[in-house]
Amino acid sequence: MLQDTLSVKVTRSENSRIGQVDWENLQFGRVFSDHMLVMDYKDGVWQQPEILPFANLSLHPATSAIHYGQSIFEGLKAYRQDNGDVIIFRPDMNAKRFEESCERMCMPVVPNDLFVELIRKAVEVDSNWIPDKEGYSLYIRPFLFATDGFVGIRPSETYKFIVFTCPVGQYYNDPVKVKIEEYYTRAAVGGVGRAKTAGNYGASLFPARKGQLQGFDQLVWTDALEHKYIEESGTMNIVFVIDGVLVTPSEDSDTILRGITKRSVLEIARSWGVPIEERKVSVQEIVDAHKNGSLQDAFGAGTAATVAQIVKIGYRDEVLELPAIETRHLSNKIKEHLNGIKSGTVKDDYGWCLKV
Ligand SMILES: *Cc1c(COP(=O)(O)O)cnc(C)c1O
Repeated sequence: MLQDTLSVKVTRSENSRIGQVDWENLQFGRVFSDHMLVMDYKDGVWQQPEILPFANLSLHPATSAIHYGQSIFEGLKAYRQDNGDVIIFRPDMNAKRFEESCERMCMPVVPNDLFVELIRKAVEVDSNWIPDKEGYSLYIRPFLFATDGFVGIRPSETYKFIVFTCPVGQYYNDPVKVKIEEYYTRAAVGGVGRAKTAGNYGASLFPARKGQLQGFDQLVWTDALEHKYIEESGTMNIVFVIDGVLVTPSEDSDTILRGITKRSVLEIARSWGVPIEERKVSVQEIVDAHKNGSLQDAFGAGTAATVAQIVKIGYRDEVLELPAIETRHLSNKIKEHLNGIKSGTVKDDYGWCLKV
Protein backbone atom coordinates (compact mmCIF):
# COMPACT_ATOMS: atom_id res chain seq x y z
CA MET A 1 0.00 0.00 0.00
CA LEU A 2 1.01 3.55 -0.59
CA GLN A 3 3.05 5.30 2.07
CA ASP A 4 1.14 7.36 4.64
CA THR A 5 2.32 10.74 3.54
CA LEU A 6 1.14 11.24 0.04
CA SER A 7 3.61 12.71 -2.33
CA VAL A 8 2.49 13.64 -5.77
CA LYS A 9 5.17 14.41 -8.30
CA VAL A 10 4.21 17.51 -10.25
CA THR A 11 5.45 18.39 -13.72
CA ARG A 12 3.86 21.64 -14.78
CA SER A 13 2.88 22.32 -18.35
CA GLU A 14 5.02 24.99 -19.95
CA ASN A 15 2.42 26.38 -22.28
CA SER A 16 -0.97 26.89 -20.73
CA ARG A 17 -3.84 26.56 -23.22
CA ILE A 18 -6.15 28.68 -21.08
CA GLY A 19 -5.78 31.73 -23.33
CA GLN A 20 -7.27 29.81 -26.28
CA VAL A 21 -10.56 28.95 -24.59
CA ASP A 22 -13.76 30.40 -26.02
CA TRP A 23 -15.51 30.90 -22.68
CA GLU A 24 -18.73 32.16 -24.24
CA ASN A 25 -19.23 28.95 -26.24
CA LEU A 26 -17.91 26.32 -23.89
CA GLN A 27 -19.10 22.91 -25.00
CA PHE A 28 -19.45 20.24 -22.34
CA GLY A 29 -16.55 17.79 -22.38
CA ARG A 30 -14.60 19.34 -25.23
CA VAL A 31 -12.19 21.60 -23.38
CA PHE A 32 -9.53 20.13 -21.11
CA SER A 33 -7.46 21.82 -18.43
CA ASP A 34 -3.67 21.91 -18.59
CA HIS A 35 -2.87 18.89 -16.41
CA MET A 36 -3.89 15.36 -15.57
CA LEU A 37 -3.14 13.15 -12.61
CA VAL A 38 -1.92 9.62 -13.33
CA MET A 39 -1.38 6.75 -10.91
CA ASP A 40 -0.43 3.27 -12.04
CA TYR A 41 -1.13 -0.02 -10.32
CA LYS A 42 1.36 -2.84 -10.69
CA ASP A 43 2.93 -5.64 -8.64
CA GLY A 44 -0.12 -5.45 -6.37
CA VAL A 45 0.44 -1.84 -5.25
CA TRP A 46 -0.41 1.69 -6.28
CA GLN A 47 2.61 3.53 -7.59
CA GLN A 48 3.47 7.16 -6.92
CA PRO A 49 0.83 9.48 -8.37
CA GLU A 50 2.02 12.12 -10.80
CA ILE A 51 0.57 15.31 -12.18
CA LEU A 52 1.60 15.76 -15.79
CA PRO A 53 0.78 18.09 -18.65
CA PHE A 54 -2.44 16.86 -20.29
CA ALA A 55 -1.37 14.62 -23.18
CA ASN A 56 -2.23 11.54 -25.22
CA LEU A 57 -1.54 8.11 -23.79
CA SER A 58 0.41 5.38 -25.45
CA LEU A 59 -1.23 1.98 -25.10
CA HIS A 60 -0.48 -1.62 -25.99
CA PRO A 61 -2.89 -2.77 -28.73
CA ALA A 62 -4.02 -5.64 -26.48
CA THR A 63 -4.81 -3.30 -23.56
CA SER A 64 -7.38 -5.41 -21.82
CA ALA A 65 -9.80 -2.57 -21.00
CA ILE A 66 -10.34 -2.07 -24.71
CA HIS A 67 -11.07 -5.73 -25.39
CA TYR A 68 -12.80 -6.90 -22.24
CA GLY A 69 -14.18 -3.77 -20.64
CA GLN A 70 -12.57 -3.42 -17.23
CA SER A 71 -13.09 0.31 -17.19
CA ILE A 72 -14.90 2.51 -14.65
CA PHE A 73 -15.29 6.22 -14.09
CA GLU A 74 -16.73 8.92 -11.89
CA GLY A 75 -18.01 12.42 -12.51
CA LEU A 76 -18.07 15.29 -10.04
CA LYS A 77 -17.59 19.03 -10.02
CA ALA A 78 -15.58 21.80 -8.43
CA TYR A 79 -17.02 25.31 -8.10
CA ARG A 80 -15.62 28.74 -7.50
CA GLN A 81 -17.63 30.29 -4.72
CA ASP A 82 -18.56 33.94 -4.60
CA ASN A 83 -15.76 34.69 -2.12
CA GLY A 84 -13.19 33.09 -4.45
CA ASP A 85 -12.88 29.78 -2.56
CA VAL A 86 -12.80 26.64 -4.66
CA ILE A 87 -14.86 23.71 -3.40
CA ILE A 88 -15.51 20.16 -4.56
CA PHE A 89 -19.02 18.83 -4.08
CA ARG A 90 -19.24 15.62 -2.00
CA PRO A 91 -16.11 13.83 -3.32
CA ASP A 92 -16.33 11.34 -0.45
CA MET A 93 -19.51 9.99 -2.04
CA ASN A 94 -17.79 9.52 -5.39
CA ALA A 95 -14.92 7.77 -3.60
CA LYS A 96 -17.35 5.26 -2.10
CA ARG A 97 -19.15 4.66 -5.35
CA PHE A 98 -15.83 4.27 -7.16
CA GLU A 99 -14.89 1.63 -4.62
CA GLU A 100 -18.13 -0.24 -5.33
CA SER A 101 -17.49 -0.05 -9.06
CA CYS A 102 -13.92 -1.35 -8.52
CA GLU A 103 -15.21 -4.31 -6.57
CA ARG A 104 -17.93 -5.23 -9.04
CA MET A 105 -15.44 -5.10 -11.92
CA CYS A 106 -12.62 -7.02 -10.13
CA MET A 107 -10.37 -3.97 -10.07
CA PRO A 108 -8.05 -2.81 -7.27
CA VAL A 109 -9.72 -0.32 -4.95
CA VAL A 110 -8.36 3.20 -4.70
CA PRO A 111 -8.65 3.86 -0.94
CA ASN A 112 -11.38 6.46 -0.29
CA ASP A 113 -9.11 9.00 1.40
CA LEU A 114 -6.51 8.71 -1.31
CA PHE A 115 -9.18 9.12 -3.99
CA VAL A 116 -10.42 12.35 -2.40
CA GLU A 117 -6.90 13.70 -1.89
CA LEU A 118 -5.92 13.00 -5.51
CA ILE A 119 -9.07 14.70 -6.76
CA ARG A 120 -8.24 17.68 -4.57
CA LYS A 121 -4.72 17.85 -5.99
CA ALA A 122 -5.97 17.57 -9.57
CA VAL A 123 -8.34 20.48 -8.99
CA GLU A 124 -5.77 22.55 -7.15
CA VAL A 125 -3.24 22.42 -9.99
CA ASP A 126 -5.81 23.69 -12.51
CA SER A 127 -7.95 25.84 -10.25
CA ASN A 128 -7.39 28.83 -12.56
CA TRP A 129 -9.55 26.90 -15.07
CA ILE A 130 -12.68 27.32 -12.96
CA PRO A 131 -14.61 30.18 -14.51
CA ASP A 132 -15.76 32.83 -12.09
CA LYS A 133 -19.17 32.98 -13.72
CA GLU A 134 -22.67 31.93 -12.79
CA GLY A 135 -23.43 28.36 -13.84
CA TYR A 136 -19.83 27.50 -14.71
CA SER A 137 -17.79 24.83 -12.96
CA LEU A 138 -14.94 22.38 -13.39
CA TYR A 139 -16.10 18.89 -14.31
CA ILE A 140 -13.78 16.26 -12.83
CA ARG A 141 -13.40 12.89 -14.51
CA PRO A 142 -11.57 10.21 -12.50
CA PHE A 143 -11.32 6.84 -14.23
CA LEU A 144 -9.57 3.51 -13.93
CA PHE A 145 -8.90 0.97 -16.62
CA ALA A 146 -7.08 -2.32 -17.11
CA THR A 147 -3.76 -2.04 -18.92
CA ASP A 148 -2.41 -5.59 -19.28
CA GLY A 149 -1.32 -6.20 -22.86
CA PHE A 150 -2.77 -9.68 -22.85
CA VAL A 151 -5.33 -11.56 -24.91
CA GLY A 152 -7.50 -13.60 -22.59
CA ILE A 153 -10.36 -13.02 -20.23
CA ARG A 154 -9.22 -12.60 -16.66
CA PRO A 155 -8.81 -9.60 -14.37
CA SER A 156 -5.86 -7.49 -15.42
CA GLU A 157 -2.84 -7.25 -13.14
CA THR A 158 -2.02 -3.68 -14.08
CA TYR A 159 -4.23 -0.59 -14.15
CA LYS A 160 -4.11 3.12 -14.78
CA PHE A 161 -6.01 5.66 -12.67
CA ILE A 162 -6.33 9.09 -14.26
CA VAL A 163 -8.05 12.30 -13.28
CA PHE A 164 -8.54 15.08 -15.79
CA THR A 165 -10.77 18.13 -15.57
CA CYS A 166 -12.88 20.17 -17.99
CA PRO A 167 -14.26 23.67 -17.51
CA VAL A 168 -18.00 23.54 -18.26
CA GLY A 169 -21.07 25.74 -18.49
CA GLN A 170 -24.66 24.57 -18.01
CA TYR A 171 -25.16 21.04 -19.35
CA TYR A 172 -28.76 21.27 -20.49
CA ASN A 173 -29.91 24.76 -21.10
CA ASP A 174 -33.36 23.58 -22.04
CA PRO A 175 -35.75 21.29 -20.21
CA VAL A 176 -35.65 17.73 -21.51
CA LYS A 177 -37.96 15.45 -23.44
CA VAL A 178 -37.72 11.82 -22.43
CA LYS A 179 -39.10 8.58 -23.80
CA ILE A 180 -40.12 5.60 -21.71
CA GLU A 181 -38.20 2.65 -23.14
CA GLU A 182 -40.12 -0.62 -23.08
CA TYR A 183 -37.97 -2.88 -25.21
CA TYR A 184 -34.25 -2.25 -24.68
CA THR A 185 -32.65 -2.77 -21.29
CA ARG A 186 -29.97 -0.84 -19.41
CA ALA A 187 -29.41 -3.19 -16.53
CA ALA A 188 -30.76 -6.49 -15.25
CA VAL A 189 -30.83 -7.74 -11.67
CA GLY A 190 -27.45 -9.31 -11.01
CA GLY A 191 -25.81 -7.24 -13.76
CA VAL A 192 -23.57 -4.19 -13.56
CA GLY A 193 -26.15 -1.40 -13.51
CA ARG A 194 -24.98 -0.10 -10.16
CA ALA A 195 -21.38 0.25 -11.35
CA LYS A 196 -20.32 3.30 -13.33
CA THR A 197 -18.64 1.06 -15.87
CA ALA A 198 -17.95 1.95 -19.49
CA GLY A 199 -19.96 -0.84 -21.13
CA ASN A 200 -23.24 0.38 -19.64
CA TYR A 201 -22.95 3.54 -21.69
CA GLY A 202 -21.81 1.86 -24.90
CA ALA A 203 -24.80 -0.45 -24.68
CA SER A 204 -27.19 2.46 -24.31
CA LEU A 205 -26.16 4.29 -27.48
CA PHE A 206 -28.26 2.37 -29.96
CA PRO A 207 -31.56 2.61 -28.06
CA ALA A 208 -30.80 6.24 -27.18
CA ARG A 209 -30.24 7.08 -30.84
CA LYS A 210 -33.57 5.51 -31.75
CA GLY A 211 -35.20 7.74 -29.16
CA GLN A 212 -33.38 10.79 -30.50
CA LEU A 213 -34.62 10.09 -34.02
CA GLN A 214 -38.14 10.26 -32.56
CA GLY A 215 -37.37 13.67 -31.06
CA PHE A 216 -36.45 12.73 -27.47
CA ASP A 217 -33.32 13.84 -25.66
CA GLN A 218 -33.02 10.86 -23.34
CA LEU A 219 -34.60 7.54 -22.49
CA VAL A 220 -36.23 6.54 -19.25
CA TRP A 221 -35.21 2.96 -18.67
CA THR A 222 -37.64 0.43 -17.26
CA ASP A 223 -36.90 -2.84 -15.46
CA ALA A 224 -35.41 -5.57 -17.64
CA LEU A 225 -37.85 -8.26 -16.58
CA GLU A 226 -41.28 -6.74 -17.26
CA HIS A 227 -40.59 -3.19 -18.48
CA LYS A 228 -43.26 -2.07 -16.03
CA TYR A 229 -41.23 -0.12 -13.49
CA ILE A 230 -39.28 3.07 -14.00
CA GLU A 231 -35.57 2.94 -13.24
CA GLU A 232 -33.59 5.97 -14.34
CA SER A 233 -32.43 7.98 -17.31
CA GLY A 234 -29.16 7.87 -19.30
CA THR A 235 -26.93 9.67 -16.82
CA MET A 236 -29.55 10.98 -14.43
CA ASN A 237 -31.74 9.53 -11.75
CA ILE A 238 -35.40 10.38 -12.02
CA VAL A 239 -37.71 12.04 -9.52
CA PHE A 240 -41.46 12.76 -9.75
CA VAL A 241 -43.73 14.99 -7.72
CA ILE A 242 -47.19 13.48 -7.39
CA ASP A 243 -49.70 15.34 -5.24
CA GLY A 244 -46.93 17.06 -3.31
CA VAL A 245 -45.03 13.82 -2.64
CA LEU A 246 -41.51 13.31 -4.00
CA VAL A 247 -41.58 9.87 -5.56
CA THR A 248 -38.49 8.13 -6.90
CA PRO A 249 -37.48 4.55 -7.73
CA SER A 250 -35.72 2.94 -4.78
CA GLU A 251 -32.11 1.86 -5.25
CA ASP A 252 -32.56 -1.47 -3.50
CA SER A 253 -32.09 -3.45 -6.66
CA ASP A 254 -28.63 -3.40 -8.20
CA THR A 255 -29.96 -2.05 -11.49
CA ILE A 256 -29.96 1.65 -10.64
CA LEU A 257 -26.90 3.83 -10.29
CA ARG A 258 -26.84 5.44 -6.86
CA GLY A 259 -26.69 9.09 -7.78
CA ILE A 260 -25.19 11.66 -5.46
CA THR A 261 -27.28 14.49 -6.88
CA LYS A 262 -30.50 12.60 -6.24
CA ARG A 263 -29.36 11.72 -2.71
CA SER A 264 -28.66 15.42 -2.11
CA VAL A 265 -32.04 16.43 -3.55
CA LEU A 266 -33.81 14.00 -1.23
CA GLU A 267 -31.84 15.16 1.81
CA ILE A 268 -32.72 18.79 1.12
CA ALA A 269 -36.40 18.01 0.49
CA ARG A 270 -36.58 15.89 3.63
CA SER A 271 -35.14 18.73 5.71
CA TRP A 272 -37.98 20.92 4.43
CA GLY A 273 -40.56 18.34 5.52
CA VAL A 274 -41.49 17.28 1.97
CA PRO A 275 -42.91 13.75 2.03
CA ILE A 276 -40.64 11.32 0.17
CA GLU A 277 -41.32 7.87 -1.15
CA GLU A 278 -38.44 5.73 -2.40
CA ARG A 279 -40.13 2.68 -3.81
CA LYS A 280 -41.04 0.89 -7.01
CA VAL A 281 -42.63 3.37 -9.41
CA SER A 282 -44.70 1.84 -12.18
CA VAL A 283 -45.03 3.40 -15.60
CA GLN A 284 -48.80 3.03 -15.26
CA GLU A 285 -48.81 5.08 -12.09
CA ILE A 286 -47.07 7.97 -13.85
CA VAL A 287 -49.43 7.78 -16.83
CA ASP A 288 -52.44 7.72 -14.49
CA ALA A 289 -51.08 10.60 -12.40
CA HIS A 290 -50.65 12.61 -15.57
CA LYS A 291 -54.22 11.83 -16.68
CA ASN A 292 -55.77 12.82 -13.36
CA GLY A 293 -53.65 15.94 -13.03
CA SER A 294 -51.66 14.90 -9.95
CA LEU A 295 -48.30 14.67 -11.75
CA GLN A 296 -46.94 18.09 -10.86
CA ASP A 297 -43.30 17.68 -11.73
CA ALA A 298 -40.66 15.32 -13.08
CA PHE A 299 -36.95 15.89 -13.28
CA GLY A 300 -33.63 14.20 -13.77
CA ALA A 301 -30.89 14.55 -11.15
CA GLY A 302 -27.22 14.16 -12.03
CA THR A 303 -23.88 15.93 -11.63
CA ALA A 304 -23.71 17.17 -15.21
CA ALA A 305 -27.13 18.84 -15.26
CA THR A 306 -27.85 19.10 -11.49
CA VAL A 307 -31.65 19.26 -11.91
CA ALA A 308 -33.04 18.88 -15.43
CA GLN A 309 -36.76 19.40 -15.57
CA ILE A 310 -38.71 17.12 -17.89
CA VAL A 311 -41.25 18.78 -20.17
CA LYS A 312 -42.44 15.82 -22.21
CA ILE A 313 -42.64 12.12 -21.58
CA GLY A 314 -43.08 9.88 -24.60
CA TYR A 315 -45.03 6.76 -23.79
CA ARG A 316 -45.98 4.38 -26.61
CA ASP A 317 -47.87 6.54 -29.11
CA GLU A 318 -48.61 9.32 -26.66
CA VAL A 319 -46.63 12.31 -25.53
CA LEU A 320 -47.49 13.44 -22.02
CA GLU A 321 -47.04 17.19 -21.63
CA LEU A 322 -45.98 18.22 -18.16
CA PRO A 323 -46.88 21.44 -16.32
CA ALA A 324 -45.08 24.68 -17.22
CA ILE A 325 -41.62 25.10 -15.69
CA GLU A 326 -42.74 28.21 -13.71
CA THR A 327 -45.21 26.04 -11.81
CA ARG A 328 -42.54 23.56 -10.70
CA HIS A 329 -42.15 25.13 -7.29
CA LEU A 330 -40.39 22.23 -5.63
CA SER A 331 -37.79 21.42 -8.28
CA ASN A 332 -37.11 25.10 -8.90
CA LYS A 333 -36.57 25.64 -5.18
CA ILE A 334 -34.39 22.54 -4.79
CA LYS A 335 -32.29 23.47 -7.79
CA GLU A 336 -31.75 26.97 -6.48
CA HIS A 337 -30.88 25.70 -3.01
CA LEU A 338 -28.44 23.09 -4.30
CA ASN A 339 -26.77 25.59 -6.60
CA GLY A 340 -26.65 28.03 -3.70
CA ILE A 341 -24.78 25.54 -1.52
CA LYS A 342 -22.27 25.00 -4.31
CA SER A 343 -21.78 28.69 -5.03
CA GLY A 344 -21.62 29.58 -1.34
CA THR A 345 -24.72 31.78 -1.18
CA VAL A 346 -26.58 29.15 0.89
CA LYS A 347 -25.01 27.88 4.11
CA ASP A 348 -23.58 24.38 3.73
CA ASP A 349 -25.29 22.85 6.76
CA TYR A 350 -24.46 19.36 5.57
CA GLY A 351 -20.72 19.76 5.16
CA TRP A 352 -20.98 18.78 1.50
CA CYS A 353 -18.40 21.19 0.16
CA LEU A 354 -14.73 20.22 0.44
CA LYS A 355 -12.51 23.26 0.29
CA VAL A 356 -9.55 22.90 -2.05
C1 LIG B 1 -23.58 9.21 -13.12
C2 LIG B 1 -24.96 8.69 -13.30
C3 LIG B 1 -26.07 9.22 -12.59
C4 LIG B 1 -25.98 10.44 -11.73
O1 LIG B 1 -25.16 10.31 -10.63
P1 LIG B 1 -24.60 11.62 -9.89
O2 LIG B 1 -23.75 11.08 -8.81
O3 LIG B 1 -25.76 12.37 -9.38
O4 LIG B 1 -23.85 12.38 -10.91
C5 LIG B 1 -27.29 8.58 -12.74
N1 LIG B 1 -27.44 7.51 -13.54
C6 LIG B 1 -26.43 7.00 -14.25
C7 LIG B 1 -26.65 5.81 -15.09
C8 LIG B 1 -25.15 7.57 -14.16
O5 LIG B 1 -24.15 7.08 -14.86
